[in-house]
Amino acid sequence: MEAADILEYFDPQEYEGLVFDMPAESIGRNLAIEVARVGSMELWEYQSFVNHDHPAMGPDANPVEIEPFYALVWRQALSDRFPSFSFVIETSPMDRMTWFQLTRTAPTEDDDKFQDYSPPIALSMSEFQKSIKQMNDEGIGSEEARETYMANFRSRTPRRGNVGSCEKCESNSGFTEPVVSEKHRGIRLMQCLTCETELIHSTKTIREVITATFAK
Ligand SMILES: [Zn+2]
Repeated sequence: MEAADILEYFDPQEYEGLVFDMPAESIGRNLAIEVARVGSMELWEYQSFVNHDHPAMGPDANPVEIEPFYALVWRQALSDRFPSFSFVIETSPMDRMTWFQLTRTAPTEDDDKFQDYSPPIALSMSEFQKSIKQMNDEGIGSEEARETYMANFRSRTPRRGNVGSCEKCESNSGFTEPVVSEKHRGIRLMQCLTCETELIHSTKTIREVITATFAK
């Protein structure tokens, strides 16, 4: 992945002090429609909804590398184009990344605690549907099918803490103590004791503040 691949789909524009990844002439109207629909919202909430991506969900993406790289490219592009604006880049590891303007109410701190990692539902939905269909075809009721699926899922994934078997070698001999990745402070990694594959133990949302460069 090159910076140009990210910038190809990254074209933030300003309208009256509001920066969104959409054409400038659409910003005011879209914001008005959302306010009318939702009632009220913080600017950063709407921006984090609009200005987001899921880089870790690519087929060959390594989140430990791709997410910090996205943050770097976004930081440079936002600072270059809007030097008098401050932003926050938010990374929810393995799930979504977003950016919004630094306002009085925008969150700026990392989450307090790491949470045992479980894959976002979007990653496993097709597999979920496939297995439900298969179990239905075999004549198992849907409630039972769901419970069976969840039990299977828990037994074969190590991603809820260090419980379960290695998803590479299927060994259940355990994992090393989790440590924060050197490349990604929102991800703790552990190693399978059998095959030494690195697996995600836990994640937390992290935030990077980009301060305006010339408006100080
Ligand atoms: Zn293994």
